[in-house]
Amino acid sequence: MRLLIAMMMHETNTFSPVPTDLQRFALGLGQLPLQGAAAVQAYRGTGTATGAFIDLVEAAGAEFELAIAAHAAPSGPVHNEAFDAMTQTIVQAVARGGWDGILLDLHGAMVTQSFEDGEGELLRRIRAVDAHTLIGVAYDMHANLYDDMVALAQVVAGYQTYPHVDMYETGLRAGKPLLRLLAGEVQPTSAWARLPMIPHVMRQSSLDEPNRSLQARARQMEQEGALTASVFTGFPHADIENAGLSVVVVTDGQPALAQQLRDELLRMAWDSRAQWVYPVEPLAQSVSRAKAMTVSPVVVLDHYDNASSGGTMDTTAVLAEILRQGLRNVAFFAIFDPQAVQQAIAAGIGQRVSLSVGGKMAMPLMPHRSAPLQLEGVVKVISAGKYRAKGPMSQGAHQDMGAAVVIDTGAVEVALISRHVEPFDVNALMSLGIDPLQKQFVVLKSRVHWRAGMGSMAAAVVECAGAGACTSDYSELVFKHLRRPIYPLDPQADAGL
Ligand SMILES: [Zn+2]
Repeated sequence: MRLLIAMMMHETNTFSPVPTDLQRFALGLGQLPLQGAAAVQAYRGTGTATGAFIDLVEAAGAEFELAIAAHAAPSGPVHNEAFDAMTQTIVQAVARGGWDGILLDLHGAMVTQSFEDGEGELLRRIRAVDAHTLIGVAYDMHANLYDDMVALAQVVAGYQTYPHVDMYETGLRAGKPLLRLLAGEVQPTSAWARLPMIPHVMRQSSLDEPNRSLQARARQMEQEGALTASVFTGFPHADIENAGLSVVVVTDGQPALAQQLRDELLRMAWDSRAQWVYPVEPLAQSVSRAKAMTVSPVVVLDHYDNASSGGTMDTTAVLAEILRQGLRNVAFFAIFDPQAVQQAIAAGIGQRVSLSVGGKMAMPLMPHRSAPLQLEGVVKVISAGKYRAKGPMSQGAHQDMGAAVVIDTGAVEVALISRHVEPFDVNALMSLGIDPLQKQFVVLKSRVHWRAGMGSMAAAVVECAGAGACTSDYSELVFKHLRRPIYPLDPQADAGL
């Protein structure tokens, strides 16, 4: 038995000004996405769906090839040239033939300069050269589903946790039914549908309601016999027709049951719609509330500018407010500013510097802009910025923040980095010599994923409405292509359930 594996992952924020070229998919390990043996070496044994596919296929005694492992941090629409290059690599491998099955590790919210459903277009291109080889796909919980993303594959499974600590399990959930299908043991049949609803990302954590119960029910359905049951909370920062919540259920040859289970999950999600709405607190009020806290560490979230949702990671509104209100013993991760990093490196360790940081990337689709901030301090750390995730999210996977420095203002240790990386893992800080447990305040440009690696250490959490392309204030986003009416933009939206 021979299986083809491929990874092509990007969550596209159509409001983000951060460009998405081919090099962004290279993870800093080279100029191009990894292929073949190098890709296997990078992902074997990691807590990713691709890691699970490799384990699964090897355990089955089958041969495999990993065509490409392309993964880019979220950003603006994928450039056509990058998309064509990645899909061509996969399609050429498919076209060589001799495959019993294909396992794809995709995100599900990839928008390209030409296609609202990058994953759907990949599957259409695969089907154009191979109409029959059976396909299993693992998607992220933030996938925005289109019909071809489900219809052109035999098995679809989505993450059931956010923070995403079940990428590996999702790979198994997508891969095992496909292997059983190849063995003639099951006949998968899928049912999917979407709701007229775009849940706020800050209300999507599966550690909290309403998503906790929803995902638990999906897991229960699988224990009761569904091949897969997946609730996709969707990614709202995508101005496309199908952004928002959707459900896919795959059963063994029981289409009516698949529809019935799908509808049950849709009804649960729709009935809880008011709980998916995020109330915004003014920034100065949030920072002052944090300052008054006596427990430590207090995690302060600069969540409008999360690199894992398409943020430029160079907005300075929250850092400026923290400095203005005089908070002390603060770690700030991080401002993306390769230029300031190089200036600090040129000055050298222990030197006092005055740097203009952040605010360098225009955000033409946002109603606000973030000014650069003049930062005075001592260069405390200089680092190559490479580390491996401690886990549980992406455990063991390579992370790369590029050349990085820590500037110590006396009150705040500010990390400056050269590649976008979300601080979902404690090693983002530890690799820069910052122990979050020694800090009164730990400021993270993150929304939910930080809870994977650092949630257990937080004595309190304060969410700050800063500035950025992943604003949690929908009134700052202008949707032109999204289907309407849709909740909560249109409170009268009706799901027809
Ligand atoms: Zn996600």
